[in-house]
This record gives sequence, structure tokens and C-alpha cells, in this order.
Amino acid sequence: MDLTYVVAMGSERSLVVRPPKLNSLVELLTSHGYSVVGPILRDGVVVLDFIEKFDEALIGVESAPRPGEYRLEEHKGAVFGGPVGPMSMKRWINPPNRIAWSARPEGDQVHVDTPKPRGPRAYLGIRPCDVAARTIFGEVWPGHPDDLVIVAECTSVGETCFCSSMGTGPAAGEGADIVLTEFGEGSVLVRSRSDRGAVLLARMNGAAATEDEIESARSRVAAAAESMVRSIDSEAAREALASMPDSAVWDSVAQRCLACANCTMVCPTCFCTSINDTADLDGVVQRTIRWDSCFTPGFSEIHGGVHRDSVAARYRHWASHKLSTWWDQFGTAGCVGCGRCITWCPVGIDITEEANRIIKEVAHA
Ligand code: SF4
Ligand code: SF4
Repeated sequence: MDLTYVVAMGSERSLVVRPPKLNSLVELLTSHGYSVVGPILRDGVVVLDFIEKFDEALIGVESAPRPGEYRLEEHKGAVFGGPVGPMSMKRWINPPNRIAWSARPEGDQVHVDTPKPRGPRAYLGIRPCDVAARTIFGEVWPGHPDDLVIVAECTSVGETCFCSSMGTGPAAGEGADIVLTEFGEGSVLVRSRSDRGAVLLARMNGAAATEDEIESARSRVAAAAESMVRSIDSEAAREALASMPDSAVWDSVAQRCLACANCTMVCPTCFCTSINDTADLDGVVQRTIRWDSCFTPGFSEIHGGVHRDSVAARYRHWASHKLSTWWDQFGTAGCVGCGRCITWCPVGIDITEEANRIIKEVAHA
């Protein structure tokens, strides 16, 4: 399928860019010094990785996430692989297992190595919920200040998505430099959202986007929002989860939950890590920062023992943090409605279903 770039710059200029390949955008980003991280198809899943050219295998297929299930389906006109796959920018901002520093003896001195600072990255084709998650996650693990974000608005949604009710999608919000919107059959509307984005777009040649084309893109995003089948009343959840530490809902989840921690690993805002120090017989010591999860027994271990010693307590802690106490800590919800925790939960536990059960319980109390 040929792609057409229709570029609308700011509110005053609009351009149509050719040649009809997303590779020209990747090349432009690379020529501006960015390493480009974008979506690729790997092992039957859409993931993010460094790219030197746009992965055309994505064209015409979409992620089809369902509770406890993920598959790819054909979708005419799809360009960026549809709703989110398992990987978010969190994997790239704070990798799952990274060396913080290492030290080795040198004579009577100690030599300390720290990782070299990396250059700026351009994240291409990121979904709006994940751009919102980057801002939330950045409260704990800020990314590189010069990283660029090119968001791809969602024109179709998965069964597990509920970003609309969390106010994070499917239209692009704050935090994007360039906004891409798929429309028609493989056409992409391109708009700048920041000065840096505008500078890049000025380097893209093209003809004007028509009002009809802009409207077509807008209406596809609006239709995607309408088609979402899951939702959480964010305000009600905040109140309800704070007031129900002893609900029977937690025990009912615990009967199904495997405490496998998948939900926290795929969640784009879960930021917990543990620190591991190792030493070898040559005296080399190394500090590693590794993703951790509140679903592991050791996570809540303090002097005297584990204080969240049941699966019910761990799920309650996680869900309550996401939807309620995160507000007290950071002034926002800790959930962006990406639906990953529902998709990648091996038993399909659904945070929207459990939160709505608690809200109902409080309403009838
Ligand atoms: S809690 Fe679930 S739906 Fe919410 S941001 Fe995390 S993975 Fe996505
Ligand atoms: S809710 Fe699902 S993904 Fe999360 S720990 Fe329990 S079984 Fe694993």
C-alpha cells in the first residue's frame, strides 16, 4: 500500500509530503541527531525498538487486545499497528535491568564506572495514552530532556482500551511534538505541537491538507472514542477505592490472581524498582536497578516481616494506588486506561470491572 503524508503545520500552514513513505520522516529525525524508537512487528507482537526505517510489515495489521489475550488482525488502512502492544516508552526510559554503576580496585584506588549519557531519541508512533503515561512516569524516572515524541492518534481501539474515560486519548493531549493521524487508506495527517516539531515539519516538503482531509482524520478519532467499550469514572474510583480497604471484591480477585506481576510489568506508569548489589571474587562490585512489583511477597518486607502477606492485600494496594492514592501522591491518576494490565493478565482480571464493582459497593453502602 502507498502512504500519503498530509501535513498540516500549526493552524496557518498545511502541506502534503511525498514521497509516500514514512521512511522520509525517520531519515529526517536521524539527520537531526535523534535515535529513532518506533513500532515494529516481532514474534507476532507490536513492540518498540530502534528503527532505521519504518516497518512496513505493520501496514494493514493491528493489535487486537482482549482480556487475557492478544493477537494481530488484518485492518485495512492501519499504519502504526493499532492499539498498544505490551511495550511502552517506560522500557526505554528506565530499562528493566540496568547498571547504575560499577567499581573495581586499581592498585590502592577504586575506579568507578557510570553509564555514558545517551543522546536524544525520537519516539515515533506512540499512542496518546502512552504519551500521558510518559508524563506520569517522568515524575519518578524523567527521560532525556531533548527526547522528541511523535504521537499516532488512535483511529481504532482495542476491547481493553478505556483511555477516553481517563482523559488520555484517543486524541493526542499534552506532551507530543508532532501528531500523526491515520485516515483514508494509509494516509497520515501530520501536525506540529511544539516549536521543535514545527522546525522538523518545515523540512518536510508537501502540498496543503484540505479541510476535508483534516475533518476526516478528526472524525475517525472521534469515532474511535465512541467505540470504546470499557470505562472507569475516575473521580468516583478515587473516592471509592480510598474508602473500601475491606471489600469482598479484593478476596474475590485473590481467588483468581496468580500474583505473577505481569500487570505491573506492562503498566506504562508502574515505576517501582529494587536495587541489587553484587560483588565478585576479583573485587568488582556492581549496582543494578531492576523493575520490581508490589505483587511480589518481598516487596512489602520490612523489619518484622511482610506486611502485605495476602494476594488480596497486594491487588488492593496496586489498584488503590493506581486509581486513588496516586492522586494524593502526584495530583493525577496513576492509570491512563491503556488496558495492558487486562490484556496481559493470564487470567484476564480487569481493573475496570473490579473498580466499578467497588464504586457500586460504595454507592449501595
Ligand atoms: S493500570 Fe492497567 S490500564 Fe491503567 S495504565 Fe496501568 S496497565 Fe494501563
Ligand atoms: S492481576 Fe493478573 S497480571 Fe496482575 S498479578 Fe494478578 S494474575 Fe498476574
